[in-house]
Amino acid sequence: MKKNRMGMALAALLSAALIGGCEAPSLGILDGKEGQTPPSTAADPTPGNDPSASETTSATPQESDDEKKPVNRPTLEETIQTVDGVPTVTNPDEYHVIVNKQRSLPADYIPADLVEPNVLFPYADKVEKRKLREAPAKALESLFAHAKQDGIELYAVSGYRSYRTQKSLYDTYVKTQGEAHAAAFSAVPGKSEHQTGLAMDVSGADSVTRLEQSFADTPEGQWLEKNCAQHGFIIRYPKGKEDITGYAYEPWHLRYVGQEIAEEITSKGITLEEYFSNSSPS
Ligand SMILES: [Zn+2]
Repeated sequence: MKKNRMGMALAALLSAALIGGCEAPSLGILDGKEGQTPPSTAADPTPGNDPSASETTSATPQESDDEKKPVNRPTLEETIQTVDGVPTVTNPDEYHVIVNKQRSLPADYIPADLVEPNVLFPYADKVEKRKLREAPAKALESLFAHAKQDGIELYAVSGYRSYRTQKSLYDTYVKTQGEAHAAAFSAVPGKSEHQTGLAMDVSGADSVTRLEQSFADTPEGQWLEKNCAQHGFIIRYPKGKEDITGYAYEPWHLRYVGQEIAEEITSKGITLEEYFSNSSPS
């Protein structure tokens, strides 16, 4: 039974992978790409973020000491543990944390340093998805300023998404469409990279290419691909790497990892997963 469901979900996933781990997983269908603020269900008590829960709270990850020191590169196995039967990352606060379909964030993980970057948004609502953690927020500002200098206007479409929001969306999806459909079209709570506060979906002014693969062919998409690494971002779900990342090509989904890792990943044409798998130190 379970296998059947998985099979169906997988098949549906392959055909629908376009909306991958982004803003869109459920919003794409539920409430449009822009997505109004979803209803916050009272059913989920959301215990809040217990600071004692994160033992990896290194307040200064590699940001301040990325001058000469080599990046600490743990293997994938070293940063995973099973919590209530769920493979869960042990380093949710690290800028290079890997969250994907096999690696969940702790359910109660809420980044402590969420802020709203001072950039353009394609909507006026003051919603949580404007936010990023502090370092990526600053990096996004410098990225957008750099773009502007080059005559490119960028918009921040969707950043942070809480577990609670994702859960509410996912549950609604299960109720209306069934579990298999939900599994295929919506990111399971805890497995959306947007919960890290390190990811932002970016677009140009043109809404037609917003969160579409055709964004890659726009001047904005091409500029981003060329320049995002020097500001610490990678195109997290590159073309041709679907079997590794689990997601279709998403030229709009930027993920902050810090400049050093971003430049290495980009110059080698690899994914974040591969960066930590091939852990032969350079
Ligand atoms: Zn995204």
